[in-house]
Amino acid sequence: MIKRFAALFLALACFAALGACKPHESIPVEVEIPTDAPASAVPTEVPTEVPTEAPTEVPTEEPTDPPLNPSTKRRVYLTVDDGPWEHTGELLDILAAYGIKATFFTIGRSIKSHPAEAKRIAEEGHLLACHTMSHDFNIIYKSPEAFVKDVDEWRAQVIATVGYDAGAYVYRFPGGSNNSSVGGRAGRGAYVEAMHEKGYIAMDWNLATNDKWLAGNTEHLPVSEYFWQSYLETYSWYKDKDPLILIIHDTVPESIELLPRILDDLIAKGFDFGTCDELTEDYLM
Ligand SMILES: [Zn+2]
Repeated sequence: MIKRFAALFLALACFAALGACKPHESIPVEVEIPTDAPASAVPTEVPTEVPTEAPTEVPTEEPTDPPLNPSTKRRVYLTVDDGPWEHTGELLDILAAYGIKATFFTIGRSIKSHPAEAKRIAEEGHLLACHTMSHDFNIIYKSPEAFVKDVDEWRAQVIATVGYDAGAYVYRFPGGSNNSSVGGRAGRGAYVEAMHEKGYIAMDWNLATNDKWLAGNTEHLPVSEYFWQSYLETYSWYKDKDPLILIIHDTVPESIELLPRILDDLIAKGFDFGTCDELTEDYLM
């Protein structure tokens, strides 16, 4: 596991460096770079299920499954990046069928090119959140001021297209807050502070299908199986994290096709779903 993870991380670092050099075109092409798992998140030994002591008394009645207490139900935040796009409507249909609300980290340029999908996101009660206007690393990561200016342009685009002011809620760094263009964990502080002054908090993620990181499919699995295994693996790493935040991209059709399987799995595990405006602090990996 550790060896495999180290290989993944090395590949990620290479991709981070490559991604930083690519100018953004009208189609989002960047690699969303999953951040590394902390060493403590990687299991170093198999936990034992065998109790170390015998129970001191014998239960007097058959155990029954207690009803699920809503107050103990855990919450997961589904986040959807880089749209709206031509397949966003299919994703919205799935969410409507499940009665689940998601957070859409939208690109201003995509809102401009897909206004109907952008309006539907807002009309159906999802959180329309910020993923910058340009998603262009060469523009946004020049400086914190340049980043904020691009975010202001996103906000103006939302007002112009959707007709409401999204205000200052959550945003997501293109490439994640730990990407090399922002200077990683050492360099992101100035960006985070500049966005705080505008009233925004940052949202990274911990669960992922790796749907923007096909190079990670070293076993050459069918794409949907690779996404599924990536989801299961990140879940095994981060299942005890709070908040638990899943990222997919509505620019990747296979991720949308896989979504019902993931939702069924999370529901079976006892999760319910919320939107990121419930969160009040930065979540930075
Ligand atoms: Zn993105």
